[in-house]
Amino acid sequence: MAISTLKAGDKITSLGRIGQKRAELYKKLGVETVGELLKLFPRGYIDYSSPTPISEAVPDEMNVIAATVTRKLMPARIRKGMTIYKLVATDGRHDMTVTIYNSQYLFDRLVVGEEYLFYGKLSLSGKKADMQSPLVLQGDSEELIQPIYPLTEGLSQAMLRLSVREALTKTDDISETLPKDVIRKNELCAVRYAYENIHFPKDNHALLVARERLIFEELFMLSLGMQVLKQRGKQQSSVTIKNTSAEPFFESLPFELTNAQKRSVNECVADMTKGVQMNRLLQGDVGSGKTVVAAACAYIAAQNGMQTALMAPTEILAIQHYKTLSGFLNPLGIKVCLLTGSMTQKEKNEIRSLMENGECNVAVGTHALFQDSVSFENLGLVITDEQHRFGVNQRARLSAKGKSPHRLVMSATPIPRTLALMVFGDLDISLLDELPKGRSQIKTWGVSGKKREGAFGFVASQLDEGRQAYIVCPMIEDSDSDLKSVVKYAQTVSETAFKKYRVGLLHGKLPSDEKDRIMQAFKNHELDLLVATTVVEVGVDVPNATVMIIENAERFGLSQLHQLRGRVGRGKWQSYCIMISDSMSEECRHRMEIMTKTTDGFKISEEDLRLRGPGEFFGSRQHGLPRMKIADMAQDFEVMKRAQRAASELVADDPELSKPCNKSLLAGVRELFDKGSDL
Ligand code: ADP
Ligand code: MG
Repeated sequence: MAISTLKAGDKITSLGRIGQKRAELYKKLGVETVGELLKLFPRGYIDYSSPTPISEAVPDEMNVIAATVTRKLMPARIRKGMTIYKLVATDGRHDMTVTIYNSQYLFDRLVVGEEYLFYGKLSLSGKKADMQSPLVLQGDSEELIQPIYPLTEGLSQAMLRLSVREALTKTDDISETLPKDVIRKNELCAVRYAYENIHFPKDNHALLVARERLIFEELFMLSLGMQVLKQRGKQQSSVTIKNTSAEPFFESLPFELTNAQKRSVNECVADMTKGVQMNRLLQGDVGSGKTVVAAACAYIAAQNGMQTALMAPTEILAIQHYKTLSGFLNPLGIKVCLLTGSMTQKEKNEIRSLMENGECNVAVGTHALFQDSVSFENLGLVITDEQHRFGVNQRARLSAKGKSPHRLVMSATPIPRTLALMVFGDLDISLLDELPKGRSQIKTWGVSGKKREGAFGFVASQLDEGRQAYIVCPMIEDSDSDLKSVVKYAQTVSETAFKKYRVGLLHGKLPSDEKDRIMQAFKNHELDLLVATTVVEVGVDVPNATVMIIENAERFGLSQLHQLRGRVGRGKWQSYCIMISDSMSEECRHRMEIMTKTTDGFKISEEDLRLRGPGEFFGSRQHGLPRMKIADMAQDFEVMKRAQRAASELVADDPELSKPCNKSLLAGVRELFDKGSDL
């Protein structure tokens, strides 16, 4: 009898036992085809391969016990629809009672004298061991590692296992996606072996090998996709500039640019003259002067008759950029406009018409800038600030506004090179690795709570000199008790140590216009001291603020401490950061030490990576990369580096993945970057 074969693209209903109704349930899990079912990876496994003796089982935890049934008790019918079945089983030295609720089917299958593997929570009271509602496997079963799938109501593990098994045996086109030499060099297993063993591992080693291959493949596709996007950007012809002199702009500045700033401007100019689209990341630590570089680019664009759009993630930052850019560019006859969501319709319309008729040279705004109703006369340059908050897809969408305008992305999060290559792999990188001259180092101390009063006294003396200060209290999102404590903290200090001063409170639970109002008041020096949670915006520039106090500093990671400290030291005054913590832990002390020793964001981020792994960077979804099915960028960092290297080599050879031999790779990349992207 011929076994019917299936293709990965076949509808899931081609499998046995799956009709329309079940297909709907599978759809909820994102599975519509046989191939997608094979990619529904288990979220965990039950490992029956190394059972625990009853005497060594961890009470109240899930345990696997190998035991032989010695006795079956009379079923007890408690009430209608509830029968309890009990049996006794022994591991050779100890007995346990097994309780099964309502499943006569399971109870009947268990035979006295036979050995089984029981998986369940074991409770111990006195000398009696008892396991309730276990999963049971035949003692001589060959599949000792069983997959646990993500489920939805109406589907059971057993059904999924059957269907996946059927899909595995019947699908005849699980074809190799990775190039042979990539597999060989990275010692990966073949694709069919990987799928078979990710679902039904032969043993733990096979599972490991299968996982590694699939994780590698996913990160490889991701890395390829990023690099192809980068190549794509380069291939599009684009608006070119001819007039490349920024001298008048440089001469108008009250300061001289740092070498790093000059180099970055030159790199941008060189990109924009090439006839291909610029796709550049400007990465610089807080205070390194990214805005001036952006302004120089906008200046040059304007000299070439092109408009610039600058997009900021929040209204506060948009307003701040608007003011800064106006200051730099208005004197040179360049018109800067602001467009934000909170403007009235009339105001918005006015600005929009200026953008449409080309009178506005530089438009600054929030995402409101990129609504459909907005159009530009001749958009040549798109600058986005704090880019790590926008996703790769969004990045691609923004540039759809003009005829492939040049793109400059500014990020204030110094991240190690390996990570930057992943998160910003679709961009070229300019580094501002030098701070403007004359900046004094922020003096930093880590102290215990006993020194709090002294720290407050110091803050007061700074406020008396006309400066301003921040006190940051950590708050875990949605923790009401934390919120209460920040509110209470602010109230307490405003009634005691800082009674004489104007104290404001800023936290994430405030409505956004209220947040903006308070932040603006602080910027205008209508407040002396701002007690805040971490919502103190990255990028907010209040040069008059000179002291940052960080409470419970042990609750922040290094990079976050660095970001917070970067709120001060932005003006001409000596600035200070005091981290308060009563934690005596080794790790905490180590972090404080690094903070007091260096203010170099790149060094700090490298150290953070070393100390905590890349979770800090990949923990949240802020990186905006496609969602991974099996890889965890924080856990699988080593694999990521290898995958990245392999992808670079491949793209060097076939930049567009257009060679016939790379067809399945391109398909894989497309799948990962989903329909929303323009790959
Ligand atoms: P960031 O890179 O954090 O966005 P900003 O662009 O806000 O930094 O610049 C921080 C401050 O440094 C601003 O007040 C800016 O005017 C000033 N600045 C920028 N470049 C220089 C320079 N080369 N020399 C002196 N001050 C500078
Ligand atoms: Mg900035």
